[in-house]
Amino acid sequence: MRPLAILGGTFDPIHVAHLAVAWEAAELLDAEVRLMPASVPPHRPPPIADATARVAMLRAALRGQDRLGLDTRELARGGPSYTIDTLEELRAEEGERPIVLLLGADAFAGLPGWHRWRALFEAAHIGVLSRPGSVREWPVELADAVATRQVTDPRQLRGQPSGKVIELDVTPLEISATRIRDLLAAGREPRYLLPQGLFDDPALLAPYRQPSLQAREP
Ligand code: ATP
Repeated sequence: MRPLAILGGTFDPIHVAHLAVAWEAAELLDAEVRLMPASVPPHRPPPIADATARVAMLRAALRGQDRLGLDTRELARGGPSYTIDTLEELRAEEGERPIVLLLGADAFAGLPGWHRWRALFEAAHIGVLSRPGSVREWPVELADAVATRQVTDPRQLRGQPSGKVIELDVTPLEISATRIRDLLAAGREPRYLLPQGLFDDPALLAPYRQPSLQAREP
């Protein structure tokens, strides 16, 4: 069965590296990939753009292609959006279909801080996306949990619904939403770091163009 892969994130804002790594993951895994914006990320300072604005940016970014989809279920749910709850909901919908949680290498290294993190392996496979600036150094408990789960061939994800970990060697793009927020707040125009669609409507990037927001404490 063709896997379903999920790239969650704050997407504050979505940038071209998100699109590029999601696209490459879709190719490498031959999977349906959905971007899934988080409403109240438990691990992070609040986003600058609200949920509606981030979805509007995602829609603008995804226009014109049909390989990458959008899933806004976490925004519909009130309260903190825990990934494990989302994956368990998806599991109930998808039956035995392989589900792959895509995580940048930085996010993966922080996994032991997540709510019920060990249960994530029961609900999905994990695809770790290489990310420049993120050294491949996992905390001991994570390395232990992963040791028996690692596979290198994407076909090995198809035989079972969850439980494997695969490292996906995607094109290194040293782009972050933090950098883009800083550029926008400084009055810069990061034209080729963001999807073109974000510039088509001036309202989309307006939340980031106010320098005072950058001073906000987490
Ligand atoms: P911020 O700078 O605000 O932390 P970000 O650029 O990391 O944002 P997120 O929305 O937090 O963007 O990222 C969503 C997911 O995409 C995370 O799993 C993250 O690791 C991954 N990701 C983001 N940018 C890249 C990149 N350049 N290469 C690989 N993975 C990435």
